[in-house]
Amino acid sequence: MMADTHHRLPTALWTPSPNCAPRLENCAPELIVLHCVSLPEGEYATGAPERLFLNQLDINEHPSFHDLDGMRVSPHLFIDRLGNVQQFVGFNHQAWHAGISSWQRRNSCNGYSIGIELEGTAASDFTQAQYQSLTTACRWLLACYPSIGFDAIVGHMEVAPTRKNDPGSGFDWVTLYQALHAHTAKLY
Ligand SMILES: [Zn+2]
Repeated sequence: MMADTHHRLPTALWTPSPNCAPRLENCAPELIVLHCVSLPEGEYATGAPERLFLNQLDINEHPSFHDLDGMRVSPHLFIDRLGNVQQFVGFNHQAWHAGISSWQRRNSCNGYSIGIELEGTAASDFTQAQYQSLTTACRWLLACYPSIGFDAIVGHMEVAPTRKNDPGSGFDWVTLYQALHAHTAKLY
């Protein structure tokens, strides 16, 4: 399977964010970094994470948003609690999701990774709809970008362990990997 010409997931709603940069020397993505976010923390379907990624969040909406003033962040994909997928950055561009980070002794994961935000908290479980959409997205990415190894799906907490704890203990890696293996098995 070839990457979509526009480096977009076919099942995602495309809402481009200005928070991105070209990948250096067209570096192919090699890593998928999973995150979770909710704004305010623990509240869902507010639309606030999406507005943050588009630099459209009014920090006066909630006291906890003042910390986000001037923050310029983006994932490639955002998956809400219902499993709806929104894409903010083309996969051929860097999104700004990992910050100071390191994977296998390589710094600055944004340069060579794809960031996926799940709506949730580091202490919450995630929905079956989210696992289904995440599995579909990862399967598509692994097929389109052979530069991503099957074991190169990690949590933000793994690439920035002193700063980050997402997607957290409520994220079920076994469910994800079993679903990916099941899908992969069907390919043969
Ligand atoms: Zn994160």
